[in-house]
Amino acid sequence: MSQHHDVLIVGAGQAGAQVAGELLDAGFPGTVGIVGAEHVPPYERPPLSKGYISGEVSAADLLLRPTDRWAADGAALLLGTEVVAVDPSEHVVTTAAGERLGYGRLVWAAGGRTRALHVPGADLTGVHYVRTLDDASRLKAQLATVRRAVVIGGGFIGLEAAAAFAKAGIEVTVVEAMDRLLARVTSPVVSEFFAQVHKEHKADVILGHGCAEITGSDDAVQGVVLSDGREIPADLVVVGVGLVPNTEPLVRAGVAGANGVDVDEFGRTTLPDVFAAGDCANFASTYTRQARTRLESVQNAVEQGRTVARTILGVDQPAAAVPWFWSNQYDIKFKTMGLLTGHDTSVVRGDPSSGRFSVVYLLDGVVIAVDTLNNVRDYAQAKALIQSQAPVALAAVADPTVQLRELVAKRPAHVT
Ligand code: FAD
Repeated sequence: MSQHHDVLIVGAGQAGAQVAGELLDAGFPGTVGIVGAEHVPPYERPPLSKGYISGEVSAADLLLRPTDRWAADGAALLLGTEVVAVDPSEHVVTTAAGERLGYGRLVWAAGGRTRALHVPGADLTGVHYVRTLDDASRLKAQLATVRRAVVIGGGFIGLEAAAAFAKAGIEVTVVEAMDRLLARVTSPVVSEFFAQVHKEHKADVILGHGCAEITGSDDAVQGVVLSDGREIPADLVVVGVGLVPNTEPLVRAGVAGANGVDVDEFGRTTLPDVFAAGDCANFASTYTRQARTRLESVQNAVEQGRTVARTILGVDQPAAAVPWFWSNQYDIKFKTMGLLTGHDTSVVRGDPSSGRFSVVYLLDGVVIAVDTLNNVRDYAQAKALIQSQAPVALAAVADPTVQLRELVAKRPAHVT
């Protein structure tokens, strides 16, 4: 066995870096190793589809810790190294190069990979995904020569890329198979708001149509053929149709989990001494009404990474933070607090046409999530309201002159 680490982290991304950072900062006495398939030290991905492709943020700005700090602080980074097998009984992982690495505790923080689009022409040069710094760099390198772009998939990453293109003067069309943008993550009023915002910035939005084919000549993209046969001309295509969690080596090792790796509130998987965190982890909490969920967000990666580190350090503190997420498109700052799982009522606060409003989601009279659009005040006050689980009066929720924090204060005395 070439190396052994007391804690071996697979995945040098947001969650892996958080686990390592927490252990190092807490003075963990054992050895910490981080194995990462990419050749770059841990970096943050959110700017890739925002400031990085538009040139406002450099690759160096993305690093979560200066490169030389990892070794100086006591973590061994093994980059460009993919773990392909896990042997939980021997406490050993094997890399693609056949190297065997021993561990005391293993943290699986391998994130996910972009879901591939399987249509003719999807492998043409000029068809891009945005998951890694390499992906975004390839995309950025082509942008200067692009006049027309098509974004396939109206999720956050696709819409952020579309906004960056439109701001750069590129003609852009967003093609979404469902009947509204962001259908998986927000309500129709927010979907419609974003569709309008994109149209105002001259980005076309086509809903209810899939991509049947990407056409090209000499390996370059020429256009996107929609499910109704229409062809949209394009020099560049960005595909943002979801994420597949990276779990195969752990699944082969027998871990439980259908959509990602199942973890408990301490980040433990069903395998001994094996933890998981981030986009690849599937968990249940108060904020999911105990239903298993896999989240793809920085907050989730940070929270779960912190929880795993604490568990390893012997501090039994279950993950309990209210989930939140953000997306920036043009001058719109979208921020959401809580999780939009199974609400029965939604209430709009403010006027969407003003560009500043919120949507409050309730289940059984209790606020479970709040989407805010350029509304920092509601966002800042939403967390306490969600945590309070206090029944609220709908008329007060709908009145933007009533602050959300007043609703927490108005909690009836009999509710504990
Ligand atoms: P990752 O950061 O993906 O790290 C996983 C790492 O593991 C990768 O480097 C991968 O190469 C490596 N790996 C995988 N398999 C193996 C293996 N077998 N062996 C070794 N290494 C392996 N979230 C927000 O909250 N707000 C945003 O605005 C936002 N914008 C985003 C924009 C983009 C373009 C992208 C791609 C993501 C965005 N996210 C955003 C999501 C957020 O970045 C992710 O949720 C977060 O990075 C998840 O962290 P992670 O550590 O689980 O996975």
